[in-house]
Amino acid sequence: MEQQVKILAVDDRYENLLDLNNILSSSDYDIISLQSGEEVLTYLHEGPIESIALIIMEVQMPGLDGFEIVELIKQWEASQNIPIIFLTSLSASLNQSLKRYPVGSIDYLCKPVHPQLLKMKVETFVHLHLSHQNNKLQSDLLHKRTLDLEETNRKLAEAEEKLKQQNYLLEQWVEERTSELVDAHEKLMKSQEHFKKMFIASPCLMAICRLSDYTYMEVNESWKAYTGYGDEIIGTAANFIFMELEDWDRSVEVMRNCKVKYETKSKEIRTVLLSTEIIDIENEPCLLQVGIDITENLRYETEMARLAQLNLVGEMAAGIAHEIRNPMTTIRGFLQLFLENNHPMKKDYIPIMLEELDRANDIITEYLTLAKNKSSHQHPEHLNRIIEALLPLIQAEATMSGKHVIFQSSHCPQIHVDDKEMRQLILNMCMNGLEAMEAGGNLHIKTYMAFNKVVLVIADEGKGITTENLENLGRPFFTTKDGGTGLGLAICYSIAARHRASIEVDSSPQGTTFAVHFPLPCSDQSGAAQF
Ligand code: ADP
Ligand code: MG
Repeated sequence: MEQQVKILAVDDRYENLLDLNNILSSSDYDIISLQSGEEVLTYLHEGPIESIALIIMEVQMPGLDGFEIVELIKQWEASQNIPIIFLTSLSASLNQSLKRYPVGSIDYLCKPVHPQLLKMKVETFVHLHLSHQNNKLQSDLLHKRTLDLEETNRKLAEAEEKLKQQNYLLEQWVEERTSELVDAHEKLMKSQEHFKKMFIASPCLMAICRLSDYTYMEVNESWKAYTGYGDEIIGTAANFIFMELEDWDRSVEVMRNCKVKYETKSKEIRTVLLSTEIIDIENEPCLLQVGIDITENLRYETEMARLAQLNLVGEMAAGIAHEIRNPMTTIRGFLQLFLENNHPMKKDYIPIMLEELDRANDIITEYLTLAKNKSSHQHPEHLNRIIEALLPLIQAEATMSGKHVIFQSSHCPQIHVDDKEMRQLILNMCMNGLEAMEAGGNLHIKTYMAFNKVVLVIADEGKGITTENLENLGRPFFTTKDGGTGLGLAICYSIAARHRASIEVDSSPQGTTFAVHFPLPCSDQSGAAQF
């Protein structure tokens, strides 16, 4: 909206002011009538002065005259550019005084004022003022625009910087991810390569079966070398070589070190320790089988066991000769005596001689049991039945020396035993127990089940075994008895081993307890033995 321009009309005489108002009356001008220099100064100080286009002023006024007022106006920065038209009747002297002001900033008109001239002058000044105002507005606007632009530019620069930063981070990230991916890919390639090399060169029998149809996908060189089969089996039903996996529960595909027999192309039966694992090959679930052929190891183990037994028997041979020579010497002595003295054989000597012969016989029998190389004939049997059959014999032996036998049986499942051997084990242990006790002692025989084993306990109330002697227990010919053979326990240990049983000894000065733990048949019979 266009603002009215203000014109200050200054004259101490009211009628002159009226004249000025009449001449300049226009809707465009707002004439402010003032009657002294002081009023002018007050007005300038109080009001907004931007809209003042011009001051028309009488020079001669009481108080401050025109020149004094101009001096003051021009000193003040806000008002110094307001143009002034003096009205005067003293034009000559005025012309001189106005020379020190910039041209155009101060003008004058001589009285009496020609209305048209005044109008024209005023119009010119107003026009100048308006264009100046306009310029100022434009320049303000321009300035504001410039500031806005600068602000926008600053924001843009900021945004650009941020974007750059983000771009940089993004690039960095992409770079990292890419190198990670490349690394991962390289690793994968390497591990695939390693797996392939390992698969091909492994000394283990390795095969990969497709789980979907259970056929061989790939077998390695060792697999081919051991089984005798070649690439012709690729695509055929997996596991046909295994002899004990017919009823193999396929839901349990993962196994660890199962002892499994397999048949080679040339019909040889061999044994592997088989482990399996489910792996993904090119997104297909597959079964990896890894087998270690232990056929040679098994042969070696059997041979070792045989050698160990031979060694034991050999070790015993010298001892047995010595043990048998003793009774023979005794008997020979008696016979020599009869021969030399030419006496009839005294009946008293006969029991001694028989005893000596029995002892020799015992030793030979026990030795033969120990040395027996043939495998024992085991069959399912109740341990309690064997004990019950032996009990009268043990009791007779105990009664002779004033001791008691207490048998406590509880129900136990059948175990695989060789009758004869089991009788010998029980007898040997019971004899030792009886021999360790003074008259009046009790020998306890117990059977029970514990941790899936049938346990036979033979406990005496004898003097016990010293720690030193405990270490030698079971060593052939180790004895602390005068008439002892030192073979009883050695035989017990070998019998227990053949029955896959373990023997535990617990001894104190109050007595000794032997506990024999027999495994149940089921764990013995189940197809592939777990290692
Ligand atoms: P032997 O009975 O002929 O001495 P064994 O092999 O049966 O031979 O026993 C070896 C040794 O073990 C015995 O001499 C004895 O010292 C010790 N021994 C075995 N059983 C017992 C027992 N129940 N109490 C004390 N000592 C025992
Ligand atoms: Mg004995």
